[in-house]
Amino acid sequence: MQAAYDQHRSCTEGKNASYIPALAQVNPAFFGIAAVTVEGQVITVGDADQPFAIESISKAFNLSLAMDALGAETLRRKVGAEATGEPFNSVMALELHSGKPLNPLVNAGAIATVSLIPGANSAAVWQNILNRFSALACRELPVMEEVYGSETATNQHNKGIAWLLDSYGYLYNDPSQSVDLYTRMCSLAVTARDLATMGACLASGGINPLSAKRVIKQENVHEILADMVMEGLYTGSGDWLYANGLPAKSGVGGGLVCVVPRKMALAAFSPPLDAAGNSVRAQRALTDIIATLRLNPLAC
Ligand code: GLU
Repeated sequence: MQAAYDQHRSCTEGKNASYIPALAQVNPAFFGIAAVTVEGQVITVGDADQPFAIESISKAFNLSLAMDALGAETLRRKVGAEATGEPFNSVMALELHSGKPLNPLVNAGAIATVSLIPGANSAAVWQNILNRFSALACRELPVMEEVYGSETATNQHNKGIAWLLDSYGYLYNDPSQSVDLYTRMCSLAVTARDLATMGACLASGGINPLSAKRVIKQENVHEILADMVMEGLYTGSGDWLYANGLPAKSGVGGGLVCVVPRKMALAAFSPPLDAAGNSVRAQRALTDIIATLRLNPLAC
């Protein structure tokens, strides 16, 4: 991990996400890597305790909540489980499939998934989401209010997606409420250490290695990981799979988490992104670590 950090520390390729103004302000030099094993060992390098917005990585963990509440088959029917082959916020992908989002890890599918989370009102749904994330990270994750405000002021595209989903019958709660909760969830602050802890819950079949508590139903873990394989890095998912053969999820905040089933989770944070919206240094660092430790299950 130290070697990967040293190797990529001086890389300046990529650009911070700027369509959410608060993300453009984050120091592009931040770079941290963390690993949490299924035995509970924690290893960190660099800015692994620097908070940043979880953004799209939240989609995978909120999916665990929806699946545990409703079952993987219901999610497959109401949201889908296929790669879209289109960018993360594509409206075209919806139009091509009669409004079905196809995958819970793109914006449309994630907003539909939020709309399925049980709760009598917005506050109750939010509490359910927060409880799940706290159990996964072993601490209560705070909302980055500046990011939430910035994204709320500029998320007209996501609002459009929610109303379109609603018009096609693929949204299961109020569109405005669903986008607001989705936006708040994306604004939760995490560190690379938190992400590795959350990912390790998937690596260990649903048990949090640090708290020793079951946080995800075991029967749903492999479907979540399958969705991460299909769509975890959007249109970069194929490149990632070719290189690493492992499920992963990125966010436009610069985070990336990769799950090595039955072994560990690796996470990295570096804000500058490539054209597909994935952190350049995080991808390179984790790819080096996976190769050095021979963690690619497809490489025999
Ligand atoms: N909140 C972001 C959005 O909806 C998440 C996108 C991402 O991280 O890929 O645009």
